Amino acid sequence: MNGNPCPPGGNPKCFAQHLGECEGEIEKEHPVSECVLLAVSGGKSTIFVRGRPSQKEGEVREIPIPNIVSHVLCAKHNRALTDFDAAGGKFAEGMEAMNALLGDTKASFDTFEVDGDALERWMLKVLYGAVFGGDTKLPDNAKSKGILPPIEGLRILYKGESFPPGQGLYLLPGPPGANATDELELGREPLMSADGNIAGMRFVFYGFNFVLLVANVHPDHASKLDDWMYRPKGITIRGCNKLLRFKWKTGAYSDTHLVTWEGLFDLEGNRIPREEKRG
Ligand SMILES: [Zn+2]
Repeated sequence: MNGNPCPPGGNPKCFAQHLGECEGEIEKEHPVSECVLLAVSGGKSTIFVRGRPSQKEGEVREIPIPNIVSHVLCAKHNRALTDFDAAGGKFAEGMEAMNALLGDTKASFDTFEVDGDALERWMLKVLYGAVFGGDTKLPDNAKSKGILPPIEGLRILYKGESFPPGQGLYLLPGPPGANATDELELGREPLMSADGNIAGMRFVFYGFNFVLLVANVHPDHASKLDDWMYRPKGITIRGCNKLLRFKWKTGAYSDTHLVTWEGLFDLEGNRIPREEKRG
């Protein structure tokens, strides 16, 4: 993914340096965008995260939002992604609304429309920023810091090019009721290919698993993706009056993901009253 020297016009501290069009100082940024952090934190000043280099496998830690910053893009390349940040924010807002109003049958009916193509690019930005900034954990504690995105990926992000067929956003359905949880958590973990390259990133929002796939899957492993939902139409939870709908330039590839929310359960499988959990 890297190895080539920074070209003329590129800022060696910017992950888009190979486009050679850097301008302005490196900007301080939240690696997952402030609007998304605020949405998934429910307006609180802390957030539960996992997958950062200092964390153990599977560990979830509460971190103050102002402490989550990175310096991975020059001013020009940072500001060029504002629309994608907005899509990420809208998506997080919809997920938060669905989560907050689970089981509330009196809530008004709302549809959150999210630009799926922009959301994929927001995830791509998060992936590249987390890897280049060393803010994510690779297998065997390998360091990701300084690993640059491939030029093809930068063209998807900055030059309006499309993801290759089969790459992009997937939703990983779980068993009914297993998806929707009350967990206020944002996880993001890189996915590695067999040859050790970064193949994508897994994002966890309130128990929903999304994967941004940025590599082609080897035909021997293609069946693993059989029940993954590629570019779904939306997400809806039975027992919740909020609907998340994705708009795709190419049209959706999978139907709306319908989840039945069956309540909250502790580790022994006993139902927990929602109020109790909220504390
Ligand atoms: Zn730049």
